[in-house]
Amino acid sequence: MTARRRPRVPIRPAVATLPAYVPGARTPVGAAAFKLTSNEIPYPPLPSVVAAIADAAQDVNRYPDMHATELVEAIAARLAATPEESLSGDVVPFRVTPENVVAGNGSVAVLQHVLEAVIDVGDEVVMPWRSFEAYPIVVAVAGGTAVPVPVREDGRLDLPAMAAAVTDRTRVVLVCSPNNPTGPVVHQDELDAFLAQVPDDVLVVLDEAYVEFVRDPKVADGLATMARHRNLVLVRTFSKAYGLAGLRVGYAVARKRIARAVRATSTPFGVNHLAQSAAIASLAVEGELLERVERVVAERTRMVALLHEQGWDLPDAQGNFVWFALGSASAARAAEATAAGVLVRPFAGEGIRVSVGEPEATDLLLKVSAGWLPRR
Ligand SMILES: *Cc1c(COP(=O)(O)O)cnc(C)c1O
Repeated sequence: MTARRRPRVPIRPAVATLPAYVPGARTPVGAAAFKLTSNEIPYPPLPSVVAAIADAAQDVNRYPDMHATELVEAIAARLAATPEESLSGDVVPFRVTPENVVAGNGSVAVLQHVLEAVIDVGDEVVMPWRSFEAYPIVVAVAGGTAVPVPVREDGRLDLPAMAAAVTDRTRVVLVCSPNNPTGPVVHQDELDAFLAQVPDDVLVVLDEAYVEFVRDPKVADGLATMARHRNLVLVRTFSKAYGLAGLRVGYAVARKRIARAVRATSTPFGVNHLAQSAAIASLAVEGELLERVERVVAERTRMVALLHEQGWDLPDAQGNFVWFALGSASAARAAEATAAGVLVRPFAGEGIRVSVGEPEATDLLLKVSAGWLPRR
């Protein structure tokens, strides 16, 4: 007797082959370990933000504001008011209005909705690689085909090679500045040359998740560049500098027509009520939050200097993390760090990303990293 196989529900091939998003290891409760795996701010939320979250908890029997109106207005006002101290000269920034801002359940979700708004099955998305591990996943889920372009030896994006990878099938190019996990930013002259080459009907997404940590004066200014290019969209987040990773809220800044399309593809009520309230409260105390960012930047400077003294020549760290390109040794080296009490994020076969956290964590890491230096 032959057993007949019962038919099974097919899974989309693109989904069956998705790479897994590997979250950074979490510190076991009660364990004495520093968590430097996920580029989080090491400080708890400010009291006024906690109070806003607690207040909002009273209303969670109601759906949240579907389009996060108050938050979107606060973001637009903030972006319109402080023309991002233009690090790169006198440039007129794009005038942001609430119609240009779309909030979502973390900027990864926003990016997903951006892609869903413009991509049809089989369309190509050019992206740097190694870069943010969510990129190949959101591209494939949107039905697109990822076209990875290797990041240079020094951890910088190879924008000329990315421009050269654009074909008739390309609908989107992802640009990550600073690049996670390698660290350097895209410079204004590089982005200008790139945008001059990319056709106007190809969407360029500039992921500025770490923009608040950048101190490289040559960094490309996203808002200023948007004023000159209709095909540029910015993606930003409250997860990193604003310390709200656990609540999930990010946003895109886009031309109105594109923003409308992104709203159309967004999950209804995608930003929960606690997250909206916390993000609004965070913008109200932004000065204090940015002082903490300043502390992280100072710690990054100290960490990089000590690593340099130790003999490391690392890519320029402009986010709240540093990158060790340790290749095949990465997994074993990361295990050594864990044993020493610092959790780091290995990318098997490629390198280790270490977030900038408490000074004590840096000191512990330095002890471990001394043993990682290649023998000369
Ligand atoms: C952390 C990070 C984000 C933010 O993701 P959220 O979903 O907003 O938490 C986006 N892009 C990059 C490159 C990141 O590293």
